[in-house]
Amino acid sequence: MLSEQSVPVVRATLPAVGAAIDDKARLFYRKLFDAHPELLSDLFLLRPADGSAVRPYRPGQYVSVQAELPDGSRQIRQYSLSAAPGRPEWRITVKRVRDADRPEGEVSSWLHTHARVGDVLAVSVPFGDLALEEGNGPLLLISAGIGVTPMVAMLDHLVDAGVTRPVTVVHADRTPADHAHRDEQTRLLAALPDARFHLWYEEPGDLAPHGASAGRADLTAVELPADVTVYLCGPLPFMRAVRGDLLRRGVPAEAVHYEVFGPDLWLGRAQ
Ligand SMILES: Cc1cc2nc3c(=O)[nH]c(=O)nc-3n(C[C@H](O)[C@H](O)[C@H](O)COP(=O)(O)OP(=O)(O)OC[C@H]3O[C@@H](n4cnc5c(N)ncnc54)[C@H](O)[C@@H]3O)c2cc1C
Repeated sequence: MLSEQSVPVVRATLPAVGAAIDDKARLFYRKLFDAHPELLSDLFLLRPADGSAVRPYRPGQYVSVQAELPDGSRQIRQYSLSAAPGRPEWRITVKRVRDADRPEGEVSSWLHTHARVGDVLAVSVPFGDLALEEGNGPLLLISAGIGVTPMVAMLDHLVDAGVTRPVTVVHADRTPADHAHRDEQTRLLAALPDARFHLWYEEPGDLAPHGASAGRADLTAVELPADVTVYLCGPLPFMRAVRGDLLRRGVPAEAVHYEVFGPDLWLGRAQ
């Protein structure tokens, strides 16, 4: 079953996938091994099964992935490409949706439990308007929970491109353990010449890095230059609150680019 929030996205995406049927690739899935075992189960690396090169995309865009579930149904979900373009593979980061009080997420659970290295998946070409525009002005990247994935792709690209524009990152998560790409995000920010990081955890515990704040994201201390461009991604309640704050503080609506991830993965539970 599609989540309520995914329905409009899938409706909007399916015709485009259908129209680009020849572009729809069957991709191998290969796991990444790096120094962070806690992330291994979340990361999926995709490359065309026919050996051709992966298509270019703009940092922040997503692909639609089709799962063939055990009951025979085919379900499609969207996953942001979570690394900079220009690599031999596409990378997606899939958070398994598993809450005690609700049914498990169908596709995220299927990917975690059934997808095996070397499997072939049907994956769309990259889509999406939340895509980093080139320029020199200041950037503000704001995310919550798994909404971090397009922001990591953007940061990765900014580092790859050696940009010097000012970059401020705001991220909110439930706990440091829930924070996908935590170390990678910190490392990428450290590689940028003019960057700031505002980090909030609802439950910081012992793992929170120095400088992280307790509670929900609060933009009060975040500088908002007149020419700032904002990219925003996360669950709907978070997006509503943050976008409202930005507009109240004078950021023009057209400067705030955003993407709502389908289900309300963590903020919604607390409301
Ligand atoms: C543009 C875009 C980019 C995205 N990028 C990412 C990304 O990079 N990484 C990522 O992890 N996710 C991303 N998502 C979210 C992703 O597409 C999926 O929505 C997510 O993985 C959950 O899908 P699922 O099939 O596992 O859950 P679903 O099966 O769709 O379930 C979603 C929620 O609905 C609840 N539910 C289902 N059935 C019922 C029922 N009968 N009664 C009550 N509750 C029910 C489930 O418990 C769950 O909480 C993105 C979404 C969009 C739109």
